[in-house]
Amino acid sequence: MTTHHETPPSDWIVLVHGGAGDVAPERRATHADGCALAAEAGAAVLRAGGTALAAVEAAVRVLEDDPKFNAGTGACLNEDGQIELDASIMDGASLRAGAVAALPPFKNAISVARAALEDGRHVLYASEGAARFAVSKGFTPAKLEELRTDAALERLAQVRAGKAAAGWAGGTVGAVAKDAAGHVAAATSTGGMVDKRAGRVGDSPIVGAGTYADDQTGAASTTGTGESFLRTAFAARVVTATHVPALGPMLGAALEAMTARVGGTGGVILVDRDGRGAFARTTASMSYALVRSAAGAETEERGS
Ligand code: ASP
Repeated sequence: MTTHHETPPSDWIVLVHGGAGDVAPERRATHADGCALAAEAGAAVLRAGGTALAAVEAAVRVLEDDPKFNAGTGACLNEDGQIELDASIMDGASLRAGAVAALPPFKNAISVARAALEDGRHVLYASEGAARFAVSKGFTPAKLEELRTDAALERLAQVRAGKAAAGWAGGTVGAVAKDAAGHVAAATSTGGMVDKRAGRVGDSPIVGAGTYADDQTGAASTTGTGESFLRTAFAARVVTATHVPALGPMLGAALEAMTARVGGTGGVILVDRDGRGAFARTTASMSYALVRSAAGAETEERGS
């Protein structure tokens, strides 16, 4: 079943997701609350006149630090029981982007991605080279045990024992925003998929697949079967389709088209250049929250 939702235009808006998947119904409210804290961190930036880029980084950091979500602390484990982080961030004003793939443990991969964006020489750093870049920018590597939660260990054990399907962990995080100056940005961060092969890179750190932002159209962040979002260049495609009157149905149709063409399910959040916010999902759940300001009045929403 496809679910979608959208808001009217906003002067500024930040919209976050806490991953598409099938969170147990009794835990959904906590996930929505986690998203609301992140959206508020982004809103604080926008309220103070900060940029969409700073807002999406601030929001994603909150979700990375929340062990409920599959990013930063609480990231899922690969086939070796290790953490390899994927993250990307993009600025719609300049089309600058920064990303890290298969990054060894660092507390906030999104800020390493932001450092890559600001540094500007390369867009995407992988694996040990990404770690070296992070250290060169002043980030401190984390120990595996600092980010690894009991829930992540348990999930890997269940998958290995054949008690849970391998793959999708759920709980990837992302944020999109439009600031009062009219600029948009997007960010996505994840541990990827449970029991993934070492070196596997999903859609989240790939500009155009998991994250895209362009002031001329909008900004998007995806979550779900990474290989499907990669193969359909999903984020870039939906960002170029924002001229439609209703964004929610457009996103829902794009997810359905992806499933029909290459399989996979998931969700996507988007803001357009007018500050309309929208999401769609083809999964049982996707926690989200948003804060928007229009005509001087702020609105907050959360759900799952
Ligand atoms: N898209 C992520 C990945 O494939 C997983 C997710 O969103 O849950 O790494």
